[in-house]
Amino acid sequence: MEYEAVIGLEVHVQLNTSTKAFCSCRAEFGMEPNTNVCPVCLGLPGALPVLNRDVLSCAVKVGLALGCSIQKRTKFDRKNYFYPDLPKGYQISQFDMPAALGGEVRIDTPGGDKAIRVKRVHMEEDAGKLMHEDDGSLVDLNRAGVPLLEIVTEPDINSPEEAYAYLTKLKSIVKYLGVSDCDMEKGSLRCDANISLRPKGESRLGTKAELKNMNSFKAVKDALSCEISRQTEILKEGGSVAQETRLWDARQSMTFSMRSKEEAHDYRYFPDPDLTIFLIGDNEIELARAAIPELPQQKAERFIGEFGVSSYEAGILTAEKSDADFAEECFRVFDAADKKPVVNFLIGPLLAEANSRGCGLRGLGITPPGLIELVLLVQKNIISNLVSKSVLKEMIDGKTTAEEIVKTRNLAQISDTSALDGIITRVLAENDKSVQDFRAGKSNAVMFLVGQVMRMSCGKANPKVVKELLERRLSDA
Ligand SMILES: [Zn+2]
Repeated sequence: MEYEAVIGLEVHVQLNTSTKAFCSCRAEFGMEPNTNVCPVCLGLPGALPVLNRDVLSCAVKVGLALGCSIQKRTKFDRKNYFYPDLPKGYQISQFDMPAALGGEVRIDTPGGDKAIRVKRVHMEEDAGKLMHEDDGSLVDLNRAGVPLLEIVTEPDINSPEEAYAYLTKLKSIVKYLGVSDCDMEKGSLRCDANISLRPKGESRLGTKAELKNMNSFKAVKDALSCEISRQTEILKEGGSVAQETRLWDARQSMTFSMRSKEEAHDYRYFPDPDLTIFLIGDNEIELARAAIPELPQQKAERFIGEFGVSSYEAGILTAEKSDADFAEECFRVFDAADKKPVVNFLIGPLLAEANSRGCGLRGLGITPPGLIELVLLVQKNIISNLVSKSVLKEMIDGKTTAEEIVKTRNLAQISDTSALDGIITRVLAENDKSVQDFRAGKSNAVMFLVGQVMRMSCGKANPKVVKELLERRLSDA
């Protein structure tokens, strides 16, 4: 029997507001432990929370960007549980009246565009952080009370790849909004997954397992793949999947049972009596809407229409806002209507350099006019494509211009036939077999000879001219 995976994701995004959610402590990281704390976030008796209005406006912005309907009335509830990093004994969260309901995130799949429905966006506070040492555990409450948004999908995701695409897109949108840096390694984006299997074609949901402890998008993908295999095996043997929470162990590439349904928490949610119901006015929604920049999807569509890039290329170029801005500047500097040479450079060598250096396109220190100068040198056949890549590296490392590098290193392409004749004579003399092959009708042999000329000229020969000259010489004799 064939099974289908049904996956829902819960993402926690840490908001980058200057102060915490319910007190005026700074929400800053890397400080001495327990220095950004006050009676409210320490949960001291009698301390009262006051909502940071910026948290609400972040929730409204994210809700709008995901196409949710913003709730006019929203309420905070207490989620009760005991853990040493939670001094109050409850987390302020939202239960039945979240800030936003019902949106979607569109992702690219091999089968085309797909909408992943967003069930809800709600606000809550973070807990502190435990540090486990040999002789005991320490708690740092600087993070306690830092605002989070929880973004929950409907179970619309059907593969680990779709989960990966959803997370990538969601992160891109949230980063465009500027409300979080979404750095999973720093914990400012966290993701849990619910996954169950069902026979293909069946509409009823199977028993789900909840996966935790995944600290990269790749880990989410790997954990889901692994869980699909585990559940498939159980079902194929006629067993039933237990409802439980499982932890991903990246080192062993396995999930382990953490707690069963019987051990699951009963959080005894109830409305927080210290916080009233909050009203979100139309003017507040309109202010948030006005502050939303052009989002990746719209930007990609504009790039396709305005610059003629493909949808695949537009997706790559608009994933990060700073990359998209850089690309747009390049397109504007490059005069020609056909932007293909620029696109190829951006998503080819430039992106490769940026990835290998772990920075964005702008982080390479090359300006858009500087890059276009290099593209034009190739366009005008002054340097070859091959040479342009090493010039690019030098531009990044040496902080000089393309034209200067080509001039000082004498890299200009040799198109002058008399300069190439000598090299060609040598190559023909040294590669008799290829010459014979060519004459025997293997026209491909000429490409090998072109390669030899390119090598001998250190990549400076103009391959088109070389090929013409070679063909002429070979058919002459
Ligand atoms: Zn505080």
